[in-house]
Amino acid sequence: MFQHLKAVSGDPLLALIIAHKNDPNPKKIDLGVGVYKDDNGHTPILNSVKKAEAILLEQEDSKSYLGIYGAAEFEPVIQNLVLGEDNPLIASGRIRSGQTPGGTGALKVAADFISANLKGARLWVSDPTWGNHQSIFNSAGVEVKVYPYYDAETNGLRFDDMMATLEAEVQEGDVLLLHACCHNPTGIDLQFNHWERLTEFVKERGLLPLVDAAYQGFGDGLDEDLAGARYMAANVQDMLIANSFSKNFGIYRERCGGLSIIASTADEANAAFSIIGQAIRANYSMPPAHGAAVVHTILSDPELTAEWEVEVAEMRDRINGLREKLVAKLAKSGVSKDFSFIQDQRGMFSYSGLTLEQVRTLRSEYSIYIADTGRMSIAGVSDDNIDYLCESIAKVVG
Ligand code: PMP
Repeated sequence: MFQHLKAVSGDPLLALIIAHKNDPNPKKIDLGVGVYKDDNGHTPILNSVKKAEAILLEQEDSKSYLGIYGAAEFEPVIQNLVLGEDNPLIASGRIRSGQTPGGTGALKVAADFISANLKGARLWVSDPTWGNHQSIFNSAGVEVKVYPYYDAETNGLRFDDMMATLEAEVQEGDVLLLHACCHNPTGIDLQFNHWERLTEFVKERGLLPLVDAAYQGFGDGLDEDLAGARYMAANVQDMLIANSFSKNFGIYRERCGGLSIIASTADEANAAFSIIGQAIRANYSMPPAHGAAVVHTILSDPELTAEWEVEVAEMRDRINGLREKLVAKLAKSGVSKDFSFIQDQRGMFSYSGLTLEQVRTLRSEYSIYIADTGRMSIAGVSDDNIDYLCESIAKVVG
């Protein structure tokens, strides 16, 4: 049965993690992996999460099945966090949300829903985007198209080119995927005026925006990071939002995310949501309970919420502080290239502008592990390794 099958090469980022693990050099640095790390290179469990888990251990009294959308009380949790508590959309009933296994689960359900119900719709993603976007939508049978985004010359955004391509090529009913904030992999975000322009465009051309909010709180703040997406939500008829609690609650392995659908009326939203329920049932039946129970416990207790907000701010401040330090130390190390753009980027990742050759030399001669694309995971930098990192980059870049 399986003789004809050939092994496929795995995710190159996983290969990078293994190569780093096996490297005996004590100075080795892992800038590949996409999880938050503290100054000791550890991915911690947040105190607010530990406290919520203690409460759950005490109070949880059943492991019976949940519904296909997860716990009913989780629906407002998703909406309040993503849209903001006073958002009139919530009271209007035009939005429905369900819990999913991570942001990935939300995207997979969205892909199945689009594939089965929005015939002929193509998905537009940024060049580059998170690799799994292509895989998820391809596997659901949705054609994936690419719009320009990253400008390798300026290490910035090609917004005019993005709009020119979209204006020339989108068809009514196509789906436009936008990263809410902390663009993965580049770290370069759309600014508010871009969201305004895109909102007009979506309305003019009859597109369905799909917002991927995987890093809310890691850029400029929990509300600030979603400002553009909230503006769009307030001004379009229909929208999908896939959000993840993996990063901002540090509960990666618990697999907790949300899928929200906004439609032009509450009746339409309910009908579409029931069809989304079918897609969930056919995929994994229902999401795991623990992560959502933790998030719900934290966000329904004002003290725990306040503690969690401080912890998110600490993660955000650490990353933004590292960006500043990196820029300053690289400049001091006498490197010829201007790296100040790193400070303007947001979130876990930075497209560093390092070439493939430079990345390979950093790996083979300095044991510094950066993805072939030049994407660096900023959280992998620490006070202990930043000097060695900047000196090594300066030697390789010249
Ligand atoms: N979208 C983007 C852009 C991501 O970077 C990630 C995680 N790497 C996800 C979605 C999925 O996150 P989760 O782990 O919650 O499935």
